[in-house]
Amino acid sequence: MILKICRVMYKNKKCFGVIDGEDVYIFDSFEKIESNEYLECKKMVKLKLLAPVEPSKIVCIGLNYVDHAKELGMKIPEEPIIFLKPPSSVVGDREYIILPSSSSRVDYEAELAVVIGKRGKNIPEKDAYKYVLGYTCFNDVTARDLQKKDGQWTRSKSFDTFAPIGPWIVTKDEIRNPHKLDIKLILNNEIKQNSNTKNLIFSIPKLISFISEIMTLEPFDVIATGTPPGVGPLKRGDTVKVHIEKIGTLTNYVL
Ligand code: MG
Repeated sequence: MILKICRVMYKNKKCFGVIDGEDVYIFDSFEKIESNEYLECKKMVKLKLLAPVEPSKIVCIGLNYVDHAKELGMKIPEEPIIFLKPPSSVVGDREYIILPSSSSRVDYEAELAVVIGKRGKNIPEKDAYKYVLGYTCFNDVTARDLQKKDGQWTRSKSFDTFAPIGPWIVTKDEIRNPHKLDIKLILNNEIKQNSNTKNLIFSIPKLISFISEIMTLEPFDVIATGTPPGVGPLKRGDTVKVHIEKIGTLTNYVL
């Protein structure tokens, strides 16, 4: 029955936090959350929030919204198209996305991220939610020109700061149906993407099953479930927000 989990800097150490309103209960390990052995309770405004996970991998889904496939005039894929982003691309809430000089077109992509809670391999769809810790907001920042130029996506998806995630994880018992959440991207106060996770082509259990047949999923690994229509470019000075119903808002600044 944990609701919101964050990570914070506390006495120069990376710690976990459980958010209760304006308060954050600080724990020196994830295991201690279960036994409720917290170090201290502090006001959230006094803490520096970190990215809520340090994943061993981020598995992203290519085309996974019906409305996005229509927008692109593309056929609905028969199987999920997956790619990876490196752990080094992660940044947290209120951190900077740094535009690389080697790209002249960097796009935002609002996505619902699933955070894994338990190690698993060959997970059947019917058991998939047992492996979920919770959900958070994700921005799959992409150098669109390099994606087209290279033909494969590693360079375009992997720059440092290209995986904003957060601000916290909302645990799965708070979100009984993750396929019924409004998702928005807001660029400088203008709504650019506006959809609902009911439009996902491949469901979360399907994705967990499909991915875990290929690679072992570890605790705190992230699955980014794909983006709805309306992707577009970022420029220096922008403020970009991913807002997901029942989770919250991930805010980043573009440099
Ligand atoms: Mg994406």
